[in-house]
Amino acid sequence: MISNSKIFYQNLGLPSDFPLGIEISRAEGIYLYTPEGKRFTDLVSGVSVSNVGHSHPKVIRAVQEQVECYMHLMVYGEVIQSPQVRYAWALQNELPDPLDSVYFVNSGSEATDGAVKLAKRYTGRYKVIAFKNAYHGSSMGALSFLGNENLKRNFRPLMPGVDFIDLNNFEHLQEIDHNTACVILEPVQGEAGIMAASKEYLHALRKRCDECGCLLIFDEIQTGFGRTGSMFRFQSQEVVPDILCLAKALGGGMPLGAFISSREIMHTLTYNPMLGHITTFGGHPVSCAAGLAAFQIVKDENLAEQAEEKAKLFRKRLQSHRIVSKIRNAGLMMAIDIQDAETFEKLFASLTKAGIMTDPFLFREQAFRIAPPLTISQQQINDSCDIILNVMDSL
Ligand code: PLP
Repeated sequence: MISNSKIFYQNLGLPSDFPLGIEISRAEGIYLYTPEGKRFTDLVSGVSVSNVGHSHPKVIRAVQEQVECYMHLMVYGEVIQSPQVRYAWALQNELPDPLDSVYFVNSGSEATDGAVKLAKRYTGRYKVIAFKNAYHGSSMGALSFLGNENLKRNFRPLMPGVDFIDLNNFEHLQEIDHNTACVILEPVQGEAGIMAASKEYLHALRKRCDECGCLLIFDEIQTGFGRTGSMFRFQSQEVVPDILCLAKALGGGMPLGAFISSREIMHTLTYNPMLGHITTFGGHPVSCAAGLAAFQIVKDENLAEQAEEKAKLFRKRLQSHRIVSKIRNAGLMMAIDIQDAETFEKLFASLTKAGIMTDPFLFREQAFRIAPPLTISQQQINDSCDIILNVMDSL
């Protein structure tokens, strides 16, 4: 019989010529297992998706129960589906005013596309301000606000009217003006290698948006659901966006995205034109059931509160190694900079061989990611660091 590996390389469209190419047949907690029984420690969480760990029994139960009731019924937003409305209710209870209207979609890209469409529709303006080294997804819309020319060059023309500014540069805030529909930003840039917007900067940005009457969109697709030490990053920074984009951990391991705003803003998608955003599978009931269960776990197990403490242990163990030049983190969203490119290449290959699943960043060279399930224990962190340090010592 033809092997899965052969079909993977031969018959699957792949985003790169050098995928990890490891077959996984089972996943539990922070571990992934190959069919031969080799165990990998997951320090990526598929990026920041599996915040409650793999195969959490409560998530599995929620999925099973929902599958037995119904799966897809009707395009999004027509019939009342309990998992959708209950999840929207739980989210709006967590969020401050006026973030009380949840538009469920399929993915992060669709969430950022939808958010920018909503801002254009609400303000009647055309201009979008985005950030250098920002990542918001790979659809034509999301690509238009992505701050890296390399990924965009061969797909032009993209959406016009998007200007890029530097994160944490206060002078660049003057680029925001009365033609600006919205500013979209990740409060911690993930793919830039974990670059956090400072609290002062976020406050100045909020003020400038208010002065110009434009909407502030936070893409919390990677930072959400406890990853950076609070349920959402904006809560610890005390700056409330007009539109919040969520995906990844939102679905508890199932595909789900959302953009969330006030009802007043959201309502503009319903007229002129009616059906301002349409999505068949948005808010899929099985995804919402899984997501709601996972959201509850993040809260019940106080996972957000433990993230910074756990990150500290990783930092303490790894930071003084001779090949580590810098560590940046926001909770358990960590980047480990390695002193030179050659060592990094060797390290990356050796970590995979040693059973550590990690990932490079799109826009930061010589750095690897540590973003494990938030359920990782102190013992598991120490075990992971033992393996990483062993590999580092051997280079
Ligand atoms: N926004 C951020 C910050 C992301 O990290 C990602 C995915 O990595 C996206 C948006 C796009 O999400 P998706 O891949 O679900 O379209």
